[in-house]
Amino acid sequence: MLSVVVPCYNEVEVLAQTHARLARVLGRLAGFDRELIYVDDGSTDGTWEVINSLAKTSGSVRALRLSRNFGHQAACLAGLRAAGGDAVVVIDADLQDPPELIPDMAALWRDGWSVVSARRRSREGETLFKKASAYAFYRLLNTLSDHSLALDTGDFRLLDRELVALLAEVPDKNLYLRGAVSWFGFPETSVTYDRDPRHAGESKYTLRKMLALSRRGLLAGSVAPLRLSTYLGTAVLAGGLAAAAVQRDARLLARPAAFGAHALALGIVGEYLHAVFRQVQGRPDYVVEERLGTGDRPAYAVQPLPVEERVAL
Ligand code: UDP
Ligand code: MG
Repeated sequence: MLSVVVPCYNEVEVLAQTHARLARVLGRLAGFDRELIYVDDGSTDGTWEVINSLAKTSGSVRALRLSRNFGHQAACLAGLRAAGGDAVVVIDADLQDPPELIPDMAALWRDGWSVVSARRRSREGETLFKKASAYAFYRLLNTLSDHSLALDTGDFRLLDRELVALLAEVPDKNLYLRGAVSWFGFPETSVTYDRDPRHAGESKYTLRKMLALSRRGLLAGSVAPLRLSTYLGTAVLAGGLAAAAVQRDARLLARPAAFGAHALALGIVGEYLHAVFRQVQGRPDYVVEERLGTGDRPAYAVQPLPVEERVAL
């Protein structure tokens, strides 16, 4: 079965059209049962009523309504948790992500890829600010992150059941979905596409929400911001020492030493905070990909182990 998760926040102007296109694409997709899961993220514009009428006319529609606007990431996660498919596609409601890509993504999944991201080659109808900030941010995040990330992708991607189950269990209250997906290290590929303008309505990602999402991404995937203080303190101390040595004047060390010691102490506190943060984030220590009867378990089977064991072992 293929599940398609659609997070919606005040999408009344576009939803019927989105559903029609999704239904057409999924109707032609041979070899899959399918379900469409609409997640209403606290809309106030009649989106839920539209979803209700879609559910009445189509047997494959399921829906969730969140009690208020919890944000895009939470809505995606709610949909992933509700999805029952062997493969799950997350797609925006505004037709910026063309549903017509889904069959290609499903074909790659059949070829054995666990993650199929849709990578944006171009972005029509978006502000220069949005394009430039997104371009720079994904590259910065990739440089700073402890693991590599798919560039120029949003949350439009197909995920294998096994990965969906793992994501659903991570107790991270600030889950940055696109980062977490790559963190698990499952076989990942992408299809490229030209991103259309929003079909109707306005972007629901206000500047504030965009900033919150990028902050989340940086904090979840990288310790660089926490280490800044350590690096700064060390650099200032070293600079002060060098200046004092060159000038042969120990008094030159006084100020850098005071500042550097403070920054270093802060950095040490940061390291503890980091350890606590990772513990709270609750990602597994590692993910076993395959087992060939080695280790301390009897070699009964060579087939992949069930999901729970992949995490627990
Ligand atoms: N969305 C959501 N909750 C929010 C903001 C957005 O569920 O708080 C949904 C929205 O309905 C859309 C998707 O997330 O399906 C992407 O939002 P949008 O198209 O407004 O963002 P943009 O494409 O402008 O970045
Ligand atoms: Mg959009």
